[in-house]
Amino acid sequence: MAASTAEKVQEVREVTRIERIGAHSHIRGLGLDDALEARQTSQGMVGQQDARKAAGIILEMIKDGKIAGRAVMLAGQPGTGKTAIAMGMAQALGSDTPFTSIAGSEIFSLEMSKTEALTQSFRKSIGVRIKEETEIIEGEVVEIQIDRPATGTGAKVGKLTLKTTEMETIYDLGQKMIESLTKEKVQAGDIVTIDKATGKITKLGRSFTRARDYDAMGPQTKFVQCPEGELQKRKEVVHTVTLHEIDVINSRTQGFLALFSGDTGEIKSEVREQINSKVAEWREEGKAEIVPGVLFIDEVHMLDIECFSFLNRALESDMAPILIMATNRGITRIRGTQYLSPHGVPIDLLDRLLIVSTSPYEEKEVKQILRIRCEEEDVEMSDDALTVLTKIGMDASLRYSIQLITAAHLVCRKRKGTEVEVDDIKRVYSLFLDESRSTQFLKEYQQEFMF
Ligand code: ATP
Repeated sequence: MAASTAEKVQEVREVTRIERIGAHSHIRGLGLDDALEARQTSQGMVGQQDARKAAGIILEMIKDGKIAGRAVMLAGQPGTGKTAIAMGMAQALGSDTPFTSIAGSEIFSLEMSKTEALTQSFRKSIGVRIKEETEIIEGEVVEIQIDRPATGTGAKVGKLTLKTTEMETIYDLGQKMIESLTKEKVQAGDIVTIDKATGKITKLGRSFTRARDYDAMGPQTKFVQCPEGELQKRKEVVHTVTLHEIDVINSRTQGFLALFSGDTGEIKSEVREQINSKVAEWREEGKAEIVPGVLFIDEVHMLDIECFSFLNRALESDMAPILIMATNRGITRIRGTQYLSPHGVPIDLLDRLLIVSTSPYEEKEVKQILRIRCEEEDVEMSDDALTVLTKIGMDASLRYSIQLITAAHLVCRKRKGTEVEVDDIKRVYSLFLDESRSTQFLKEYQQEFMF
């Protein structure tokens, strides 16, 4: 298990993350200045200045290590940017900070127990930053020989003969090496560097000035003198994976593929214990550090009393992520009990909370958010169309109007237009109903549905 954990971590790193334009992909931070004041529009964030400032102060507490055992509650109406602020906090902590967003009701699935679902969410929000030194060697390519063509599905192997200053080295090539050979158009006679860990080949050209090319490798490159007097480069590479990813690949036979299918099932507690002690070992050896991420639980009033006890306990752990909860309920019943409580949250958990409220947007703020979303989705929109869409955002909901951007863009492309016009907005507004119109529609035709 010990050796295989490390091997399997390698496996996860190789999973390329697929980036897509998500609902909050325009958020790059909280948009605060050095004095922690919120700029009107910055880093994709618009308005909601008090809440953003409060979130910024909480971030300072996190950085000073003063948040342990506490959690954050964002209270406000739907579409007032609660998820966006939680996302902004995660981004402000660093681009490799894990961010997990779940809705309270998701916990109640038939596939796994409530506490298992919560544990998985916690572990998805804890990153392990693993540091590694890779060796980079350089030399002149004397010969390239690929034993099997780089097509088909099987393993592709090949041979590259390198002549370094004092020795001749032959490497077996993996898929990555072949890819970079082709991409960099490497030929015999070229001077290249090879990263032994990743197999990446970089072409330095046919003649080069050492110092300049070394500089081009970036500040992380350092030089070490090898015993043979051969100058080699070592580069520090850092990968961040989550504890949940390590759990899954070590507990399922299909390994990391389960991460794609989402079919991770319940994970045995022994597996988690072994992984915790392995990670503790890496931390002691200075090979890894923990990156506490952000776990965002929307509709937190949907959790029941058992879940709340779990959260209370989990917050005490030294590896706990930053827990941000959101709700749009005032006084409501705590699920699983007869008791009423603010936000449907038991008093002992309420005691631990820093509560921040979000308020509805003004028209010009909605317009600005829509403009940012158009940029994010690469959509050109006329001013008039944006004004109409803003009105829709105010009347229906911000989220509904954001969704109309993509749909209107498609309609615009179908008519071979380049800029979304008022008519495109009208068209999609009539095709897709917002909540109040669809409720109205159902009410009107209720009688007919019933019989
Ligand atoms: P709900 O309670 O319904 O989950 P919410 O308060 O979490 O709603 P969000 O999902 O954050 O609201 O907001 C809806 C959309 O508007 C998202 O795409 C979000 O990124 C965007 N958005 C909300 N507020 C802001 C803001 N202040 N600046 C930029 N974008 C925002």
